[in-house]
Amino acid sequence: MSVQGKTVIVTGSNSGIGLGIAREMAGAGGHVVLNSFSDTEDDHQLAKDMAAEFGTDVRYIKADMSKGEECRALIEQAGACDILINNAGIQHVAPLQDFSTAKWDAIIAINLSSSFHTTAAALPMMRKAGWGRVINIASAHGLTASPYKSAYVAAKHGIVGLTKVTALETAQEPITANAICPGYVLTPLIDEQIPDTMKEYNMSREDVIKNVLLERQPSKEFATVEQLGGTALYLCSDAAAQVTGTTISVDGGWTAL
Ligand code: NAD
Repeated sequence: MSVQGKTVIVTGSNSGIGLGIAREMAGAGGHVVLNSFSDTEDDHQLAKDMAAEFGTDVRYIKADMSKGEECRALIEQAGACDILINNAGIQHVAPLQDFSTAKWDAIIAINLSSSFHTTAAALPMMRKAGWGRVINIASAHGLTASPYKSAYVAAKHGIVGLTKVTALETAQEPITANAICPGYVLTPLIDEQIPDTMKEYNMSREDVIKNVLLERQPSKEFATVEQLGGTALYLCSDAAAQVTGTTISVDGGWTAL
């Protein structure tokens, strides 16, 4: 599958799933824009290294996805956007009554509102180009819930709704909008949750992975960033031209339970 010469913007892509998807897109000939809220030498070096590895155009643009104006500025600064992958996300785990308002606001801003802003800024570019793909990285938590993840689950259900609206508003144009719903993928976001869970359940790391994290993932295996990149590439293919407004689960059977 090819996205040769298409401009691909991946939010939150200096690590984890975003980086994995960006690498698959670069490997398929996409001109990739990497993003995060930091602006370090490592961030720009990452783009240079990817450009050299894949022989394609890769840039890094700093923009904080918790700020609406920076979300829109990212798209404007990129200058074009054929494929928008809304991936930036954070997590915080606490019972509802103890959930801090600051954490709630940050999760809703980064995991949900950022996609509203980037999509609003990108659609005119896709319309001008006569082709576009919006791919929102939701979660199994966009379709089901878990305790202690109120903001995350609310934001991920929200992004599934935003995906449907985007699809309906573009239904008669060569633009599609879909959400990918991963189960657990071993990235820094998940790795950071392991020590607290080890303490909470008094378990070893291995037991937390097998009995807590993968408890609801019937395959008992993590999904990989390469599999998510492949799913995103499929959504960019001609075969997926009529796939719009839907969710694709990559969750080892979680949502079949
Ligand atoms: P990660 O922590 O490895 O990566 C998150 C990325 O978002 C990083 O590049 C980080 O720099 C960026 N980011 C965070 N705050 C930002 C901000 N304010 N502005 C710009 N960028 C910001 O996490 P991940 O596991 O790769 O998660 C990526 C996406 O996938 C998230 O939306 C997450 O909810 C979703 N997801 C992850 C899993 C999983 O198991 N890892 C499962 C389902 C869904």
